[in-house]
Amino acid sequence: MIPWRVDAIAAQLAAIGVRRNGVLLVHTSFREVRPVEEGPPGLIRALRSALEPGGTLVMPTMTDGESVFDPRSTPTHEMGITAELFWRQPDVVRSTHPGGSFAATGPHAERICTPQPLAPPHGIDSPPGRVHELAGQVLLLGVTYSECTMLHVAESIAGVPYSVAHPCVVEEDGVAKRVMIAETDHCCRGFRQMDVWMRAHGMQREGKIGNAHATLADARDIVAVAAERLRQDPLVFLCPPNAGCEECDDARASVPARSRPG
Ligand SMILES: [Zn+2]
Repeated sequence: MIPWRVDAIAAQLAAIGVRRNGVLLVHTSFREVRPVEEGPPGLIRALRSALEPGGTLVMPTMTDGESVFDPRSTPTHEMGITAELFWRQPDVVRSTHPGGSFAATGPHAERICTPQPLAPPHGIDSPPGRVHELAGQVLLLGVTYSECTMLHVAESIAGVPYSVAHPCVVEEDGVAKRVMIAETDHCCRGFRQMDVWMRAHGMQREGKIGNAHATLADARDIVAVAAERLRQDPLVFLCPPNAGCEECDDARASVPARSRPG
């Protein structure tokens, strides 16, 4: 296969509707996009170019929480090669959450990476929460809504009744210790329902970026659509009780008895 040129990828990003000078949160799997001229750094260059001259590019840089987090050295965990190389670029800021960090570059980067509360990691006051506040866009590049952290912002705004705590190493007064961090966690496969709902509302644009299927939507639209569904059924994103999904069963078990449906 002939690699996609960086300027061709930038043109595809513009064609799908990435806003010049906007704020763009990108979740991506390079494996789906490739081959690209220059590899993952070429994809990053195309994303930067599509946002020029005054845009802000944001990516998740979450870590495994098994050692003390240092934003200058801790590698990402299951975030893909593009995000891993992005945060290491010289003009990129990285936030300081020990498990749920993000990286950003551009005029709003400092604001987006301002320290966020320990729990929940991806609530209103978090990097994706600030992308929502700044009316940014979300690009799912070769991944589905199950990777979309903006949906945790929606869960936070809707006040979902589930919350599961996971251990994470933090440093307090120079001593490493393990703390439990509560988040609206589950397998996230239920987030894929968003695809149908967003399409029905005409609120997302789809197309090819490189070889990947890409979905672009406004953060405000994603949160509004998800929050409306969550108002109707607070457990709409969890797998059914008999589905054999351990993570969603844990989330269900965390729901206080008084707020269980039925
Ligand atoms: Zn599940």
